[in-house]
Formats: sequence, C-alpha cells, structure tokens
Amino acid sequence: MRDFQYHAPTSLKDVYALLGEHGEDSRLISGGTGLINMMKQDLIAVDHLVSIQNVPDMKDIKMDGSTLQLGGLATQQDVATSDIVKNNFPLLAETYKEVATVRVRNAATVGGGVAHGDPAQDPPTGLLVLDAQVHVSSAAGDRTQSIRDGWFIDYYETNVESGEVVTGVSVPEMPANSKYLYTKFLPRTADDYATVSVAALGVVDGGNVTDVRVALGAVNTTAVLSEGIPSVLTGKKPTAALIREAAETVRDEVSPTPDFRGSAEYKTDMAVVFARRALEQILGVS
Ligand SMILES: Cc1cc2nc3c(=O)[nH]c(=O)nc-3n(C[C@H](O)[C@H](O)[C@H](O)COP(=O)(O)OP(=O)(O)OC[C@H]3O[C@@H](n4cnc5c(N)ncnc54)[C@H](O)[C@@H]3O)c2cc1C
Repeated sequence: MRDFQYHAPTSLKDVYALLGEHGEDSRLISGGTGLINMMKQDLIAVDHLVSIQNVPDMKDIKMDGSTLQLGGLATQQDVATSDIVKNNFPLLAETYKEVATVRVRNAATVGGGVAHGDPAQDPPTGLLVLDAQVHVSSAAGDRTQSIRDGWFIDYYETNVESGEVVTGVSVPEMPANSKYLYTKFLPRTADDYATVSVAALGVVDGGNVTDVRVALGAVNTTAVLSEGIPSVLTGKKPTAALIREAAETVRDEVSPTPDFRGSAEYKTDMAVVFARRALEQILGVS
C-alpha cells in the first residue's frame, strides 16, 4: 500500500477544507473497514486520508418525534444493540446485527455503510425497505436524499460526491402491526458476504395485504427494492399461490454477478426462493 498522510480534523468545516485542498488526491475515512481493504489491493490510491472520527456530535442514535436519527459516525454495532432501535425499528436492528462479525461492526459506521456501495452489504436492504433518508453536508450546504431515489447507483458507486460527508440517516416509523424479517444465505464464514440477502416487511389488515416491501442484496450491482412483489400482492388475500407468483417477479429484477459463491442462474433462483420464504413468514402463509 502506498504512503499517505492521515488528517484528523475536529470540525466538519476543517473536513471540507482538507477535502477541497487535496481534491482527487484525498478520501474521507470513517471506520476504514471498506476503504483500507481497497487501498491494500491498490483499487484506490490516495495521498491524503481525512478521518471524521474526531468530529463531534455525529455518533448519536435518537428519536426525533417518531423518526429515528442515526449519526453518520454511529457504529453498526451501536445500531444493532441500541434499545431505541431494537424497540422501535426491530427490522433495522436485525439487519445491522447480521453485518459480518462484532469486530467489523465495532468499526464500520452508518455513514460509511451507505457511502461504500458494495451490493452485498446488509444495511442497504433494511434501509430501502424502511424508506430511509440520507443526510449529506459539504462546503456548499446540506441536502437530504431518499435512499430509494437513486442513492445506490452501481457497484461501489453511491450518490455521494467528492467533498460531501454523509452526516446521518433518518428512518420514518415502521407501520403499525407490521411483520418483518432479515435473513441471508451465508454458507461460508461469518465475515464473508451473503450469497443472497432479503429484508422484508408486511402488513395484513382485514385479511388483505395493505403494505408489503421486499429488498434483496448481493444479487445485482446494488441492493434492489422489488417493485413486482407489491404490485402482485397489495390489496389481495395472501395465499401460497399468490406469494409464489409475487416471488417469481424478482427473477426479472435481479442480475447477479457469478463468483465463487455461485453462478448467476443459481443466485437468481436463490433470490426467488428467499423472497418467497420471506413473504410466507411475514404474511403468515405456509
Ligand atoms: C472482513 C469484512 C467483512 C465484512 N462483511 C460485511 C458484511 O457481511 N455485510 C456488511 O454489510 N458489511 C460488511 N463489511 C463492512 C462493509 O463492507 C464496509 O466496509 C462498511 O460498511 C464501510 O463502513 P466504514 O465506516 O468502515 O467505511 P470506510 O471504510 O471508512 O469507507 C468506505 C467508503 O465510504 C466513504 N465514506 C466513509 N464514511 C463516509 C461518510 N460519512 N460520508 C461520505 N463518504 C464516506 C469512504 O471514502 C469510502 O469510499 C465487512 C468488512 C470487512 C472488513
């Protein structure tokens, strides 16, 4: 790995100044779990690392009314173990709990997790299902973007520009009486990435599906929020046959990369199977 200079400013203003001064030769670092690996493999070459770890007030996990606010520097372990998250956003706690090992979760952050853009990461699926908003700041000002609105662009590409900092993520209240699930197929080690992962939420009211959301990870260049599943199930009585039909729509929404975890065909079949099983569980159909 080539030499670099490490900066640890204590304010966002100084972060912007350093990123502005060093431009393309600089990179923001939070937990370093993704970035350092890429630097070690010479996939990214930078002369200046700008850490935000000493910027105050970015680690909070708190409620603002019924909305959850996660600071950009909250660790993924903080999210997985927070009572606020476990009690009010259990799907999110379950999702962050599945990130690799406690050693990785203790370093990896909320902001780094949404900026990194590895399609096999766990948090993006839960955040898509829960319609999270990403808060971004730079010398030019602040902006907020729905994570569903093109935040994840491509393999390792998210909608954060150089000079911008993800300062936090907010998540609106989970719907009343929702059932939820996060699960993944992880046949190798705990700190491997999933072959396929699925986050799902469903509400059945008066015998009919009133809300259903399913997002899949590791089976496309980004995490994918299914549009086919709600179009088949919403407003209908959930039956085993209808759930099978809904899960089949996923086949056209994924485009997995073949690798040592399996062929594209295998991963596509697995995405359909995992979508079906998740739907059966959250909609109470066996
Ligand atoms: C062995 C191992 C296994 C792993 N397994 C999993 C897994 O199974 N599931 C999973 O979800 N994750 C897993 N991870 C973690 C995941 O791949 C990412 O590394 C992690 O989410 C990145 O968070 P970070 O805070 O460490 O970001 P960093 O590594 O510091 O940064 C990653 C990228 O985001 C940018 N960035 C960081 N913070 C910000 C910010 N606040 N604003 C703007 N840009 C920012 C950086 O410039 C860099 O481009 C694993 C990591 C390791 C090392």
